[in-house]
Amino acid sequence: MSHAQAELRNQLQAGAFDIVAVTAFPMNIPVDIEVVGIKRSMSLSACLCEIETRGGLKGYGFTAITEEEVVASAINEVAGHLIQGECALDTERLWERLTWTMIPRGQSGYASHAIAAIDIALWDIKAKALGLPLWRLLGGARSEVPVYTTFGFSFLGRDELVEAARHWVAQGNTRLKMTVAAEAMLHRDHKPVNAVIAEDARRVLAVREAVGDDVEIYIDANCNLDAVHALQLAQRVEEARIGFFEEPIMHNDIRQMADLRQRTSIRIAAGQNEGQAYRFRDMLVQGAVDVVQPNVAITGGYTQCLKIAGLASAFNVSYANGGAWPFHNMHIHAGLANGSLVEYHHPAVLMSRMIYKDLPEARNGKLALPETPGLGFEPDLDAVRELCKRPSARGRGKG
Ligand SMILES: [Mg+2]
Repeated sequence: MSHAQAELRNQLQAGAFDIVAVTAFPMNIPVDIEVVGIKRSMSLSACLCEIETRGGLKGYGFTAITEEEVVASAINEVAGHLIQGECALDTERLWERLTWTMIPRGQSGYASHAIAAIDIALWDIKAKALGLPLWRLLGGARSEVPVYTTFGFSFLGRDELVEAARHWVAQGNTRLKMTVAAEAMLHRDHKPVNAVIAEDARRVLAVREAVGDDVEIYIDANCNLDAVHALQLAQRVEEARIGFFEEPIMHNDIRQMADLRQRTSIRIAAGQNEGQAYRFRDMLVQGAVDVVQPNVAITGGYTQCLKIAGLASAFNVSYANGGAWPFHNMHIHAGLANGSLVEYHHPAVLMSRMIYKDLPEARNGKLALPETPGLGFEPDLDAVRELCKRPSARGRGKG
């Protein structure tokens, strides 16, 4: 046994990796965007999870696109107590314990976010304990991952959208994603959906015209359409050679997505906010998607996303990142052979830079993975504590 192996065994036997503290930090983070002279401010919710071991190692998990205070309470009041005193390296056993307590009968929702944040922190600790960057521990398939840039938001007018697309292409980005159907917002009293998708189609075709044939364009409806309008939009934009149509139908209705997929040549993608692996099994068995998109920060962390990636591989279906948070998701896409596109969501990247130090920068459509043990980046805890003092998205103070 080498000295390093003996040292690790001694640490394990002495309980150095036993969990002594679990702390969640809920944040409502203001993000100011400026692209081609267009300014926009938005707030993004996020929750950082710090786990400390007896030996002093700290791991940091993360979740977002949720109610940050609810998830923080689930971690601080429930999940943290379940793993106190346990060995942080036992990611599979702890994931099982958390799942059986918090979502024992296949529920999802806030608990999946809480479990994801904890699981990411545990893998950060495990990789640090072994002295490996996480992507190498997960399999080391590649040292850089391709990214796509999410830029095309509904607050940009059609001309501004075209100008922004040209801007991102000039920066070396050859894969662009834009939102569609943002104003459809099913169940809300907004514009007629026919008018919304007619304008969406004009926007998509205008971007294709502006960027030429060599740029990939993806569209994302964020589950805002019913099946009829999703099909109508797909038919209207088919000539623009879309790379994939993400979350076209409300609730990721599997039967309706499978039907849509039979009626369009555009690839269908879904899954960023799904909490459970069986949902991906059903999408695959029913032929509902061409791309599965679990997100490690939402879909139960690395522990569950590894299994979903395995399912995708067995079904010969693409596995990519949807739902942003590229710096956490890049590790699994670099680690696994069937890892692929990572979403470089512009506001999410700006937000990540407000709470983390040492984040890598995408260059020429690629993100190089760090060689530092663990995730390879650490939170700026002073910034995190300041952001925790801001009122939540629902207007309650945080004291
Ligand atoms: Mg999405």
